[in-house]
Amino acid sequence: MSDANSQPGSGLNRRSFLAGGAWAVGAIGVGGLGAGLAARRAQGEQYVWQLDPDKCISCGNCQTHCVLDESAVKAVQCFQVCGYCDICTGYFPTDQFELNTGAENHLCPTNAIRRKFIEEQSGVRYFEYTIDESLCVGCGKCVKGCELMNGSLYLQVRHDRCLNCNECAIAVACPAQAYRRVPADQPTILKAKAREAVAAAAKAEGAAEGDAHEA
Ligand code: SF4
Ligand code: SF4
Ligand code: SF4
Repeated sequence: MSDANSQPGSGLNRRSFLAGGAWAVGAIGVGGLGAGLAARRAQGEQYVWQLDPDKCISCGNCQTHCVLDESAVKAVQCFQVCGYCDICTGYFPTDQFELNTGAENHLCPTNAIRRKFIEEQSGVRYFEYTIDESLCVGCGKCVKGCELMNGSLYLQVRHDRCLNCNECAIAVACPAQAYRRVPADQPTILKAKAREAVAAAAKAEGAAEGDAHEA
């Protein structure tokens, strides 16, 4: 399965992407596990650290307080929530910017967000925004910006990087008490609105499949 930052719309227009159920591969929360988590399970670790995105206030400590040189925390995108905005407040700064992908127009300090044109409908242009985790430093600026619109971006500990410290240094520094231990076989915490959007999309897809079987 692809991770949350796969590019589910690639090669598809927005409607066929949503109608075809390809959104499912973009669902939040399954990415970044990889070999690291598998190895941990093999070692018998039953719990890992994760942050609750509904408590997180994007304070910046996730970038600066991880014991790793580059934080194990990354931004993730929930495509079911994302409005595919033209003016994405997680991508563009809200003060002065021009509507193009020039580096000077990026809110992200590391150019970790990819902006891809999907289609234009009735004069409205749709773009897809994905995170390049190799560049993301977990600063949360995009998360804070996205809150002004759909709130589809949020932070998660990526367990292919996290060392699963006995005492997570970010958890200690977190002003929102957003960190807790979660079962290693369910290592992510979906944002509430992402959970609702994923459930609604799955229900709609189930209904569509039912209709197809009756036809
Ligand atoms: S330290 Fe806590 S509030 Fe700050 S960005 Fe991380 S999870 Fe969010
Ligand atoms: S703004 Fe910060 S959290 Fe968002 S993608 Fe860029 S580096 Fe990652
Ligand atoms: S457990 Fe350690 S490696 Fe993982 S996020 Fe916390 S400080 Fe970073």
